[in-house]
Amino acid sequence: MNDYYEILGVPRDASADQIKKAYRKLARELHPDVAGPEAEDRFKDVSRAYEVLSNPDKRQQYDLGVDPTAPGGGMGGGAGGFGFQDIFETFFGGGQAQQGPIPRARRGQDALLPLDLELPEVVFGAKKDVPVETAVVCTECGGTCCRPGTTMHRCDVCKGAGSIQRVQRSFLGQIMTTAPCSACQGHGTVIPEPCQECGGEGRVRQRRTLSVNVPAGVETGTRIRLTAQGEVGPGGGPAGDVYVEIRERAHPTFVRRGDDLHCTLEVPMTAAALGARMTLETLDGEQEVDLKAGTQPAQVVTLKNLGVGHLNGSGRGDLRVHVDVSVPTALDDEQAELLRQLAALRGEEKPEPKLAASHGGVFNRLRDKLSGR
Ligand SMILES: [Zn+2]
Ligand SMILES: [Zn+2]
Repeated sequence: MNDYYEILGVPRDASADQIKKAYRKLARELHPDVAGPEAEDRFKDVSRAYEVLSNPDKRQQYDLGVDPTAPGGGMGGGAGGFGFQDIFETFFGGGQAQQGPIPRARRGQDALLPLDLELPEVVFGAKKDVPVETAVVCTECGGTCCRPGTTMHRCDVCKGAGSIQRVQRSFLGQIMTTAPCSACQGHGTVIPEPCQECGGEGRVRQRRTLSVNVPAGVETGTRIRLTAQGEVGPGGGPAGDVYVEIRERAHPTFVRRGDDLHCTLEVPMTAAALGARMTLETLDGEQEVDLKAGTQPAQVVTLKNLGVGHLNGSGRGDLRVHVDVSVPTALDDEQAELLRQLAALRGEEKPEPKLAASHGGVFNRLRDKLSGR
């Protein structure tokens, strides 16, 4: 048998007042809302101890060696009409005090849909169709949940209040407890004949297609909100929102950094030296690129306004073409002879080692390239 005096930490001759004080102190410390679920067992022990020791009859019984809370023992716990669960609820207000009936119609859930986009769609914006399966208002009952031709009735049990009040007596005096009406689940209304189509839910599931206007300039992680395109709520309640989350697919040629696009153009050594006019296949179609004579490796040619459209505002970023000079590898005899002649003409048969300045040279340009400048 539990030692209820020890559990409450009071002497065996404690007064009713001492017991009450000890219990209230412990109950505050051990309440699951404060002490967490681990303290729940101790909290129940303390509550049970108080239930026994606060009741003069039960306390007397307990002092005689009978636990009145044990199943089948003592006074069956019903004599006072007040079990420890009631103390639990009345002392702490019993949790949810519902004000008025619970509305049947509630707002539906939001939905998050991923949307994969190709680079041109991100650059120019796009109109996309996104399939969704959500709850929509039941057309049979129009969201009323009732079979057509019938209506909801006021709940007879709670008279439409949605809750039932009980008056109980406790050590704190009379306490009014309110519990949701079980006849109507707290709604205050009953549906005598539920709609057959939706089973009285007011909504049905449906596949449909959402049309999404994707503006230029979105990027991975951008969310586009489609107001009230989500789930219709229970009881035909207002629909939640749909959020479309963008995911950019990689492009085989162009890389996006901010609103600029970058690409690499391979240029033969001779074209870099002599200069050339080249035609590039960009996302905007063919574009002319002018390579000046003496174009260097890693040099960047900027094509204005051929980048990604700015999301907030007009205009576009740039297309930045990084030049990669390719040095010929498999020279035949004639080509090698020509290059040797060129080297001789330029006095480069035995080139002097020359270190570039730390602020210039290919290494720096490469670093700029990597950091997106
Ligand atoms: Zn219906
Ligand atoms: Zn009711």
